Amino acid sequence: MKLPLALSVAGAIAVSAIIIFLLTLKEHEEQVVALHTEQIHALGELISEHIGITMVSDSYHSADIDNEIKMLAANKNLLCAHVLDGRKQILAGAFFQIDHPSSSLSAQSLESFLKLPTGIYEREGKLIAVNDIGDVALGLGSVVLISDLALYVNSSRSAMLKHILPYVIAITLVAIIATVWLLSCFLRPLQMLSQFTQQIGQSKDYTLRFLNQYKYEIGALGSRINSFLDTIEVELTINQEQNATLVEQQQTMMRLANYDSLTGLPNRQFVVDNLRLELARVRRTNDDLALVFFDLDGFKGINDSLGHETGDLILIEVADRVVNLLREGDLVARLGGDEFLIIPDREVSATSLNNLASRLVQAFSEPFMLRGLALKVGVSVGIAKASDADYELSQLMSNADLAMYRSKAKGRGTYTLFTVDMVESYKRKMSIANSIDSAIRSDEFLVYYQPKIDRNGMIVGLEALLRWQHPVFGLVMPSEFIPIAEAGGKISAITQWMLERVCMELPDLQMLLTHKFKIAVNLSGHDLRHTALFDDIYELFERYQVNPDYFEFEVTESAYLQNFAIADKFFKRLTNLGCTVALDDFGTGYSSLSYLTRITIDTLKIDRQFIRELESSERSRLVTCTIIDLAKRLSLTVCAEGIEQTSQWQYLNEHGCDHVQGFLFSKPIPLSELLYISQDFGALLHTPPLENDEKNT
Ligand code: C2E
Ligand code: CA
Ligand code: CA
Repeated sequence: MKLPLALSVAGAIAVSAIIIFLLTLKEHEEQVVALHTEQIHALGELISEHIGITMVSDSYHSADIDNEIKMLAANKNLLCAHVLDGRKQILAGAFFQIDHPSSSLSAQSLESFLKLPTGIYEREGKLIAVNDIGDVALGLGSVVLISDLALYVNSSRSAMLKHILPYVIAITLVAIIATVWLLSCFLRPLQMLSQFTQQIGQSKDYTLRFLNQYKYEIGALGSRINSFLDTIEVELTINQEQNATLVEQQQTMMRLANYDSLTGLPNRQFVVDNLRLELARVRRTNDDLALVFFDLDGFKGINDSLGHETGDLILIEVADRVVNLLREGDLVARLGGDEFLIIPDREVSATSLNNLASRLVQAFSEPFMLRGLALKVGVSVGIAKASDADYELSQLMSNADLAMYRSKAKGRGTYTLFTVDMVESYKRKMSIANSIDSAIRSDEFLVYYQPKIDRNGMIVGLEALLRWQHPVFGLVMPSEFIPIAEAGGKISAITQWMLERVCMELPDLQMLLTHKFKIAVNLSGHDLRHTALFDDIYELFERYQVNPDYFEFEVTESAYLQNFAIADKFFKRLTNLGCTVALDDFGTGYSSLSYLTRITIDTLKIDRQFIRELESSERSRLVTCTIIDLAKRLSLTVCAEGIEQTSQWQYLNEHGCDHVQGFLFSKPIPLSELLYISQDFGALLHTPPLENDEKNT
């Protein structure tokens, strides 16, 4: 802004100076002309008076006039002088030499000038003065003086230019310099303000303030800028605070999104994101990576019985134990519930993985000491390798899951390394799960019966056991499909089918066995969760006109106790109808026996494992005898299952076992084959053991 302003001001001053100078020059020229006119006029009058006096004198001689005229030569600028008579004829004349190119006078111009009447004239740059000689009335003639006005004016102008112009230029320059200096003085505050704003722009330091020692508009502008800065600073502080809050919130969100709030371990989201990247990396580098899945055995039971707070404390301690077990670089995460995952950062050889898994299982051998209780929590571990899953995340997770469920099935507190054949069995499992509904609809299930024998060898009952004639897999055993049906929520429908089929076949069985007997039907723990089961059974009995006395229901102790409230009511109502209840697989589940006095049962069924070990294990013999003794004390019937050898039956008989069941008498067989089995096994008791055992193997 300063430069254009200075240029404009300097220009204006220069133009004004020029205009003033030109006007002065013009005025000067006009004055010069007036002065010269006056001079020539006076000279003309003077000379004409002289000549008039000369002409009227007695001694007049024409040479006198010439002399008079020649005296005018001293007057510079005078071009010529002529004396005319009354008739305008030249009496005398003289030309004065002026050395200047413009000072020429043509004969024609001269002639016209001489004819001019009395007066003073300006023609063609010349000044012509015509004066009468003496009194006009005398008619003596006139004097004509011609001067070079232009030359006079020019020389006067040159003189003036020569003397005045340097001053004009000098003054103009001084004026311009002074004005520019003043301008820059006036503009300095503006410049300071501009520099200040530039400094703020560059440094972004809004705490700076303009040192405002100026008045007027600049002062006002400065304080306005300062007050803007105040506002900006306040806004900035608010912004910074809000930013900090936002960053904090973002971090909290990150933590919530990626970390488990209870244990502080990374969560599923975090681990899945990481795993995806890791898988891509190891696939590229042709490496391998392992996943170690584990969940807690019996955690649900602890949660249900001791409350979620205890469950939470256990999860926290689990996280602690596992973190202490790992090495640097290993990652442990909580996937949710009681499921955890470890990604070891080391070589994934079977040895090192087995090592890690056994240390993991080992870490849980010590009980958790919580609220004065020593709680034992085991882990089931499943391990899978990325290379076996073709580096696919979901496949890898499901392989590890599969291996973990294998561990659970094997018996808790174990670990399993995934192998490809597990997928086959998994597929079979899925296929079984998916075809249960259609199997019920198309009657693919079969009921097999296994006799129960009393101490005399007579059939006192039949246990109804399910079989599935699968269109693809052939005969599928209940130990395979019942857990699948339970997990898939299909067990109630199967139980329903089973009960109805037994009701339908009961008349045939009554014809076969002429004396009183019981049909034992197995119930799953899942059946006992539904209160409608009793009504369903009652409705079946009504529909098929069945006497409830024929029915016994077998249930495991864990199924009974886990659903105690519903189960107890249910079994009481069944007992009232005339049915009996047997506690299946007794001796394998709960270690406390105090519950036995509280539940509604008629029979204890000693589990097969004790019978199998009767000969080899002192402990099994002890358990068996204790169970028989216990049953007697509680006035319960006792039944042993899994008898394969006469020696086992003989032993049980000697110790007072009421009923027996096993391959020694018959495997479970369909109704059609029941016709052909013996009704009296009494002879077996008296047969030497070896003979019978050979027959049965
Ligand atoms: P469980 O109730 O303990 O049934 C007895 C199992 O022992 C039967 O196996 C039977 O075949 C087998 N068994 C009997 N005597 C001997 C023997 O001397 N030696 C050997 N090695 N085994 C013997 P099964 O039929 O395979 O049934 C397995 C389990 O499936 C049953 O165990 C029961 O828990 C379940 N189950 C069978 N049918 C049903 C049913 O209709 N509903 C429910 N909920 N479960 C059923
Ligand atoms: Ca049973
Ligand atoms: Ca059993």
